[in-house]
Parts: sequence; C-alpha cells; structure tokens
Amino acid sequence: MCAKEIDWSSLGFGYVKTDLRYVSDYKDGKWDDGAMTADETVVLNECAGVLQYAQTCFEGLKAYTTEDGRTVCFRPDLNAERMIESCKRMRMPVFPKERFLDAIVKTVSANREWVPPYGSGASLYLRPYMFGSNAVIGVKPATEYQFRVFATPVGPYFKGGVKPLTVRISDFDRAAPHGTGHIKAGLNYAMSLYAIVDAHEQGFDENIYLDSGTRTYIEETGGANILFVTKDGKVVTPKSSTILPSITRRSLMYVAKEYLGLEVEERPVRVDELESFAECGLCGTAAVISPVGKIVDHGKEICLPSGMGDMGPVTKKLYDTLRGIQMGTIPAPEGWIVEI
Ligand SMILES: *Cc1c(COP(=O)(O)O)cnc(C)c1O
Repeated sequence: MCAKEIDWSSLGFGYVKTDLRYVSDYKDGKWDDGAMTADETVVLNECAGVLQYAQTCFEGLKAYTTEDGRTVCFRPDLNAERMIESCKRMRMPVFPKERFLDAIVKTVSANREWVPPYGSGASLYLRPYMFGSNAVIGVKPATEYQFRVFATPVGPYFKGGVKPLTVRISDFDRAAPHGTGHIKAGLNYAMSLYAIVDAHEQGFDENIYLDSGTRTYIEETGGANILFVTKDGKVVTPKSSTILPSITRRSLMYVAKEYLGLEVEERPVRVDELESFAECGLCGTAAVISPVGKIVDHGKEICLPSGMGDMGPVTKKLYDTLRGIQMGTIPAPEGWIVEI
C-alpha cells in the first residue's frame, strides 16, 4: 500500500503492517548490534519462555507531526526507563536506555511515510517489547531474549467527538500488593481480559480496579491511570505502589501545577470519596485524557457533574494544554519533545 493514500482520519486503533521494524537478540549474556527487518513474523521454539511462562513486557508511545512539520516523540526517555524497571522485575536483561532511544529513532525513520500529517489527529504508534525466546520447561528465566520495536498508524482517539465514558467499580482485581501492577508486563493484560470483556457485556466501557489488599481505595483501569478534579478545582490522582506509572498522568500533573497553577495531590483516594468529585478522566498515551461521565459502584450510579456530553472544564484545559505542548503550539518543558 502507498502510505500517502491512507485516509488518516478513518484509521482506528488496530495493527497495520508497516515497512520495517527493529530487532535485537540477547544471547550468551549480551545484546547483538540490532538491525531493521522487513519480516513482521517471529518464529520461536515451541517451548519459548514467553509462550510457556509469559516472560514478556512492553511499552507504548507515539510519533507524530508537530504544527511546524517536525516528526517527534513525547518523552521517550521515560518509556526507556520504565521498560528497564519492567525488565528487572521480570528477570529479563535490561535494554540500555541509549539503545532503546536509538531503536525508536531507527523505527520511526524507517517508516517516515507512515507518520500522519499535522492536523490529522492520527499518529504512528510505537510498540517496543521484549520476550524470552529460548526453550524453558522448568520455571526459570530464559537465557535468550528478543527486543523489538514495530510501528503501526493509529487514528484520532476522539473520532466523532468526545463521549464521556461509563465505568464500573470492578469485582475483579488487577494487581496484587507487592505484585507486578507497577510494571508493563503482558501478564497484567492477560489477566484483565476476562474482566474487560465482562464489563463490555454489561454495558461498561472500562473497569476501575480497587487496591486488592483492602478493596477500599481507587487504583486505575486496565490500561489508564485516573485523575479527579475536586469541586474546588484541585487535581487529585491516586497514589499506590501497584499503579502503573503513566507518563501521560505524570505529565498532566506537571501541567496542572506548572502551566495552569492548579493545586495537585497524589494521595490514596477512597471509593467513598467518588461522589465528592466534579470531574474524572482516564489518562494514557492513546487518548491523553478520556473523560468519565458516570461511575457505577454495584448498582449505585455516580454521575459526575461534568455530565455525559463533553469533558469537564478542568479536564479540557489539561487536555488542551498537554496536546498543545505535544503539537508544538505551546512551549514544552526541556526534553519533553524529541525530534526524529
Ligand atoms: C500503559 C499503561 C498506562 C498509561 O501509561 P502511559 O505511559 O501514559 O501511556 C496506564 N495504566 C496501565 C495499566 C498501563 O499499562
């Protein structure tokens, strides 16, 4: 397919094969030099560590075009650092930060035709990941690994306008205390599939998970952190060691404080506080912020005052400011925007 013929605005969030992807193999205690390949398939031993014991972790970030026509990524250094933490917890070899950033640059450069133009709302989603590739039948870490980065174009998140979400408080748990909730491991997603399909069947967009130790505090959804806005305009995000440290959420909290002059708070948020909030949003790379209109807690409907029609005013300001920083229309903090 000729990339230029793509109708960017009608793209969804799905896999589209692009031209080249980055691959590096780990063997005998070291990473090889890495290379780009046109081969999108991965051929593995039937007993590979990833297939038997799910030894894998991943990252997600986007390349896009700014207003002045540059191709950029948003804070890829934080993705590199987070993947290092994931690898350590999964007993996988670390892929060095500089090499991670180089792999991102190489993957975007090799697929430049697939980077959507400014104003399309679309972007080139990048998926770095690593998995245990040699045969392991006893439960132990693999000794060989593959690190890859592929790119796939994704459409605008709020196609056809913003529709606030209806979410439920889940009876399923996402992350055990002292478990793997704080890292981007594939296993966290595998075990969330039952809950998300069930939520959809019951008419909900997402699950809000509670802390599984006491089921008293709000944690996050399966793939996004949560922000609340209090009635007096304070931005609050749950604090817990089992929440995945979202780069978007950390950036939004900075924007709230430093750009918008809002009070910010990272602290445990109790379920019984939900009714006191004015706005709620889910944050992650995909949407930046997706507003929540309604939270259902076992039959009790909590309707956020921001309603089911649009983002709340503070959420909108946060969204517009971070989008502006990303798109180059608002000056970015040092190092946030990396040109490719
Ligand atoms: C990836 C992810 C997020 C969002 O993180 P970003 O870095 O903002 O994209 C939030 N929660 C979970 C569980 C995730 O896996």
